[in-house]
Amino acid sequence: MPQINDHFRLLKAGYLFPEIGRRVRAFQEANPDKPLIKLGIGDVTEPLPAAIREAMHAAVDELGDRETFRGYGPEKGYDFLREAIANHDFKGLNISPDEIYVSDGSKCDCGNMLDILAGAGANVVAVADPVYPVYVDTNVMAGNAGPADENGRYEGLIYLEATAENDFQPAIPEAKADVVYLCYPNNPTGAVASKEYLAQWVAYAKKHGSLLLFDAAYTAFITDPEIPRSIYEIDGARDCAVEFRSFSKNAGFTGVRCAFTVVPEGVTGTASDGTAIPLGELWNRRQSTKFNGVSYIVQRGAAAVYTDEGQQQTGELIDFYMENARLIREGLTALGIEVHGGVNAPYVWLKTPEGTSSWEFFDRLLSDAGVVGTPGAGFGAAGEGYFRLSAFNSRENVETALERIKAAL
Ligand SMILES: *Cc1c(COP(=O)(O)O)cnc(C)c1O
Repeated sequence: MPQINDHFRLLKAGYLFPEIGRRVRAFQEANPDKPLIKLGIGDVTEPLPAAIREAMHAAVDELGDRETFRGYGPEKGYDFLREAIANHDFKGLNISPDEIYVSDGSKCDCGNMLDILAGAGANVVAVADPVYPVYVDTNVMAGNAGPADENGRYEGLIYLEATAENDFQPAIPEAKADVVYLCYPNNPTGAVASKEYLAQWVAYAKKHGSLLLFDAAYTAFITDPEIPRSIYEIDGARDCAVEFRSFSKNAGFTGVRCAFTVVPEGVTGTASDGTAIPLGELWNRRQSTKFNGVSYIVQRGAAAVYTDEGQQQTGELIDFYMENARLIREGLTALGIEVHGGVNAPYVWLKTPEGTSSWEFFDRLLSDAGVVGTPGAGFGAAGEGYFRLSAFNSRENVETALERIKAAL
């Protein structure tokens, strides 16, 4: 028998969403006539904008003609997409199309990035608490963490507590971390990072030689002009930060699948003999060995996001979800609930009523209101006492959910 990767055995059983699914199924079996509204998992609900669909239809037809048929594409993604990304998303930020690597998702890019870094605990890794579980679990798989304690915190990781007191911008640690995951606008708290705050992280990375892994999956939801959309708005970030972006949330691509990662030329890592190696070279090698690209059809759809129609239609989609977020925020505030987020991000992070744990609140909302959300404790120990509601739903469902919550609480 082959030896398995033992690190997988350290992963906590009963991962958040399976546990939610289990409780939801149990409730539905016991109450088959009570329709539920799901404001839990962060998946979009609204259909793909027309400009994107039209571009994809046209691409299908191109593939149906010998003259315009295409097979394997360029390994980093087609020029038309990488150029559109550089010109729109990184205008004035000095990011070249060559530093952009198109992929089929940010979730996989976040995890796959660990392929090019030393594993087995060679790097000290810092994550926020609460956190998007992918950062933690992929590091456990790579051997960068020891067993979890009773709070679910893995040995060896640095946890940075994001609380209402620090505006969900955790204090910069004294200790040195080699790799730091940052996610802004944040999932799950819906918080944003100020320019000053991100500048502190860039200064930290320069001081310690750290790598910042900046997840900007929700950047399109930022409306405040003072909030940075990209880590590269911070001077010096080109030398220490990798940025993950995705079309999943801004363009409804959770099922279509397209994302990209920016690895600027200046970002390096150290080999065991002390040589500085550009991470972009390693990432290119990794991707061209283990990945064969995103389909031409999907890349045409993604490029259509940057056309005038695409910008207008995806803008409307975002406005639609943000109006849901506003309704949730205001509806809950009117009920006397303390809410955070939901302004420049599609998540509302609410404080559960005094003395109610986040799983108790989950069960109460499920049974009394027929509304499914996500318990904060599932995102980390510091998420206890909080609860996440997502703005990804139809207007009708959001309004009904709010009426039901009002009647139940
Ligand atoms: C949704 C989401 C992503 C996007 O993941 P994809 O694999 O591109 O769909 C990335 N990071 C966070 C924090 C997310 O919530």
